[in-house]
Amino acid sequence: MLPGEGRFLTAAHKELSGCAATLGKVNAVPLGMPSVPRAAEESTRPDERALIDRFGRIATDLRVSVTDRCNLRCSYCMPAEGLDWLPGADLLSGAELSRLIAIAVRELGVTEIRFTGGEPLLRKDIIDVIGAAAQLDPRPRMSLTTNGLRLPELAGALEAAGLDRVNVSLDTLRADRFFTITRRNRLDKVLDGMAAAAAAGLTPVKVNAVLMRGVNEDEAVPLLEYCLDQGYELRFIEQMPLDPQHAWDRDRMVTAAEILDMLGAAFELTPHPAPRGGAPAERWVVDGGRGSVGVIASVTQPFCAACDRTRLTADGQIRSCLFARTETDLRGPLREGADDAAISALWRNAMWGKAAGHGIDDAGFAQPDRPMSAIGG
Ligand code: SAM
Ligand code: SF4
Repeated sequence: MLPGEGRFLTAAHKELSGCAATLGKVNAVPLGMPSVPRAAEESTRPDERALIDRFGRIATDLRVSVTDRCNLRCSYCMPAEGLDWLPGADLLSGAELSRLIAIAVRELGVTEIRFTGGEPLLRKDIIDVIGAAAQLDPRPRMSLTTNGLRLPELAGALEAAGLDRVNVSLDTLRADRFFTITRRNRLDKVLDGMAAAAAAGLTPVKVNAVLMRGVNEDEAVPLLEYCLDQGYELRFIEQMPLDPQHAWDRDRMVTAAEILDMLGAAFELTPHPAPRGGAPAERWVVDGGRGSVGVIASVTQPFCAACDRTRLTADGQIRSCLFARTETDLRGPLREGADDAAISALWRNAMWGKAAGHGIDDAGFAQPDRPMSAIGG
C-alpha cells in the first residue's frame, strides 16, 4: 500500500484518541503536560489517509480563514491601527480555497468546516466558496464565525449556498462598551445580524463572548438572559494570548470558574447530557431546560487531548494548532502544479507534527507571531 492510501481511521479509533491505545500503526500515548513542539519525523508517519498525529488524535474539523481583514478592531484580536494586511497576491483565490477544501474532504477525512477570519463575510466570493464545498461528496457540515455585521444582507444567500449555521461574536449589550471593545459603533447591526441568521434558518445561532476584567465581566448574566430570550446558544471563551499587542495577562483573565460562579448565582446550571466529544465547550442546561450555555476554558482547562482541528490560513498555510510556532506552506506547491496526492502528503505531515498541547503554562511559551485575526479563530 502506498503512503496515503490507507483507510480512514474509524469513529471507534477516534474515541481512543489520547488514551494508551494502539491505532493501526499509530501508537497513541497519554498527552500529559503540554510540551515544547518538536519536529515530527515524517518517516514515522503510518500509511493512513486521515490527518493523524503522533498522539493518536485525528483532525476532522477544518478551520478555514478566508481573510485577515476585518471591519471591527476588537482589542483582544487586532490593534487599533498599524496591522499590515496579507499581500493580495499571497491570498488564496476562491478556486484555490475550494481545491484545498475538496482535498481535505475527499482525501483527508475532514467532515466539518468552519469558515472564519478576520471577518469572513468581507470576502466577496464567500458564497461561491461555501456553495462549492456544499457540492462535495461526502458533504461536510459547514458553519461560519462572524462578527455579524454583514449578516442582515447575506444570511439568506449563505443558507441557500449550503451553510448550516453561524457563530456570532458579541461581548456586550451596551453600545458604549461595544465601542470600547471593538473601536466601532455597530452594536445594533450585530444584533440585527443575529436575528437575520435565525430568520434565515442558520440555526442554532451560537454566540461567542469574551469577558475581560474591568471591561465587561459584569455582563455574564445579562448576555445569557439575552441569548436565552432570543433562542441563541451562548458560549463564553477564556481570553487567549493571541492579541497583537502581546498585552494578555493571565492574572487579569476572567476564568471559566469565575464565569460559572457568576452564572450559577443567577441561574440553575446542570451538566448537559450530550456527549462532549472533541467539542471545546463544557455545556450546561439552564433553569431545567430554558436553554443551554457553554464555557470554553481554553487556558485553565485545555482540551488539547481531544483536539480534532486542522487550520488553513488565508494565505495557504497549514497550522496544526492555534498556538503552533511553525506552518506548512500549501500555496507554493499548489501554484507550482502539485497534484492532490502531493498536497495531501504535505498536509498529513504537517498534522503528524502537531504538538501535544498549546503550552501556555510552559516556562518557554511564546505567543505565535500571527495575531488571532490572521490565524482564524
Ligand atoms: N470576525 C469573526 C468574529 O469575530 O466572530 C471571526 C474571527 S474571530 C478571530 C473568531 C473568534 O475568536 C471570535 O469569537 C473572537 O471573539 C475570538 N477571539 C479573538 N481573539 C481572541 C482571544 N485573544 N482570545 C479568545 N478569543 C478570541
Ligand atoms: Fe474582527 Fe472578529 Fe477579530 Fe473582532 S474578533 S477584530 S470582529 S476578527
